[in-house]
Amino acid sequence: MTTQAFTEEQKNYLDGFTMGAGLSEAMQMLPTFAQALNLPETPRPRDAGEPQGLADANRLAQDRFLAAGKKLSLEEQAKRKANGLDIWDQVMDHARDGRFPKGTDIFMFKFQGMFYVAPAQDSFMCRLRIPGGIMSSSQLRGVAQLAEDFGGGYTDVTTRANLQIRQIGARHTVDVLMGLNDVGIIPRGSGADNIRNVTASPTAGIDLRELIDTRPLARQMHHYILHHREMYGLPRKFNIAFDGGGAISALEDTNDIGFAAVLVDEGKSVEAGVYFRVQLGGITGHKDFARDTGLLLKAEQCIPFAAAAVKVFIEHGDRTDRRKARLKYLLDKWGLDKFVQEVEKGLPFKLARLPLSACEPRPIINRMAHLGFHAQKQPNLYYVGVVLPVGRMRSAQMRGLADIADRYGSGTIRLTVWQNLLISDIPPEKVGAVKLELRQLGLHWAATSVRAGLVACTGNAGCKYAAANTKAHATEIADYLDSRIKLDQPINIHLTGCHNSCAQHYIGDIGLIGAKVNYGDEVFEGYHMFVGGGYGPHQDIAREMYRDVRAIDLPELVERMLRAFLENRLAAEETFREFIKRYTTDELKDLFDKQEIAVAA
Ligand code: SF4
Repeated sequence: MTTQAFTEEQKNYLDGFTMGAGLSEAMQMLPTFAQALNLPETPRPRDAGEPQGLADANRLAQDRFLAAGKKLSLEEQAKRKANGLDIWDQVMDHARDGRFPKGTDIFMFKFQGMFYVAPAQDSFMCRLRIPGGIMSSSQLRGVAQLAEDFGGGYTDVTTRANLQIRQIGARHTVDVLMGLNDVGIIPRGSGADNIRNVTASPTAGIDLRELIDTRPLARQMHHYILHHREMYGLPRKFNIAFDGGGAISALEDTNDIGFAAVLVDEGKSVEAGVYFRVQLGGITGHKDFARDTGLLLKAEQCIPFAAAAVKVFIEHGDRTDRRKARLKYLLDKWGLDKFVQEVEKGLPFKLARLPLSACEPRPIINRMAHLGFHAQKQPNLYYVGVVLPVGRMRSAQMRGLADIADRYGSGTIRLTVWQNLLISDIPPEKVGAVKLELRQLGLHWAATSVRAGLVACTGNAGCKYAAANTKAHATEIADYLDSRIKLDQPINIHLTGCHNSCAQHYIGDIGLIGAKVNYGDEVFEGYHMFVGGGYGPHQDIAREMYRDVRAIDLPELVERMLRAFLENRLAAEETFREFIKRYTTDELKDLFDKQEIAVAA
């Protein structure tokens, strides 16, 4: 098919992009990249001179390791040869030829948000960037269309309140990237050694109890990253989160930098008001929460602080050993005080300090608030948290959700780190209609099922590191338990496929990490199980309960555990984590073994 310049009709459709109207139709009118290849070729300028690697600060940091006679890791060597932000021509060439990248190019493509995920799937996954997880209905429709035209027709909500489009063919990377840019989504740096999607409280600005609206901070941080080249090509990946003290936790204590809003009362060494405490070095896959620095920042100081902290990490983070390159390891080596002193040198203001104990306790986290209908701080308006089993949405569901947001709300969609989404600004008289339309999409809002607390990483259906099919096993557990056991409080079950722990198994009530399990002469997909994890005010790293459980045995085992909990808890208010803490591991095993369960017919 030959495609010439856009017709008037097409131009009018394109105008709809910026208006957010008729977007999916507009996308269908656009030529794909492959189709556009039939246009007369326009010569593209090539970069002149030497290949340009990392921006200065990162390159100077590498120079210091080399001067000390150290060997850079393979990824650092690749970053030294070329800057992943500048490989657009290479991405275009691969798309034109229908080629997948090889070797370290696979790593470099992640700077553009494109992950070649073979052998799990012989295709690309595109990870987006959605600051604070907040997007418009028109953006959701646009992503739905891209997933349908160029991917597998679905997206996954991630544990960073983000979206992934999967099963993108080799010819369509450019189509997806251009389409995302058209709807205002810029995925640069969503993978590789870059700052990942900036997260924030999903109920920011509508939360009855929040201390501060974190939306502006998430957006400012996002744009700071996009417009500063030195924020790319760090020693390793980096996570930043803002928690406004509302009903739903942003899990900021699992981030490299977590900003947590607090209230300081009269009579302290700083003026009374709302501040952000700074926590550093969270990486729960390595069993570490972020550490409180004792610092108090005003909202307007957060972005400069984050930028200065990233710069210290750029300068001093390890470039030789990938296993020791995260911020946690620099903090372990230096201690918090030295790191903070280095950050302070790069700031135009003095840092205020106050012990955590001198601040007011964080407003209570409501573990049910990410699901079901809840009142907003705006009178007569509600938001609904929609269950997305293991985070997956078909394109038709995405369009349906966008329509609900437009028809009954303000057209705003809020993704959460719990792999579900919220639709806000619904008047009470529209609640019935929203429920009806959600049901018609095959979705639900109920907060009391096992399904409501399930978190699963991609697993071996789409990630080469996984030892098990996490999403499928999570669904099997939920299907089995939902008809057999009724819970009156949320139980978080986190399934992660490997030690990267994208689903943060150490902070789940029940955490599972994929493993190959030898059983008789056969090898089965299975898990090691951990119990009693928590986050925020209930921070706890889960302890190992069982090793080498076959996936097929999991649903029944989890049923025994939940029945034992319901039978033996001290009161209805006792949480699963508190129950676990009262027993030794052997005592728990006894309790679980004693549970008799009816075998399904
Ligand atoms: Fe892949 Fe491991 Fe992350 Fe799961 S935890 S998505 S298996 S890297």
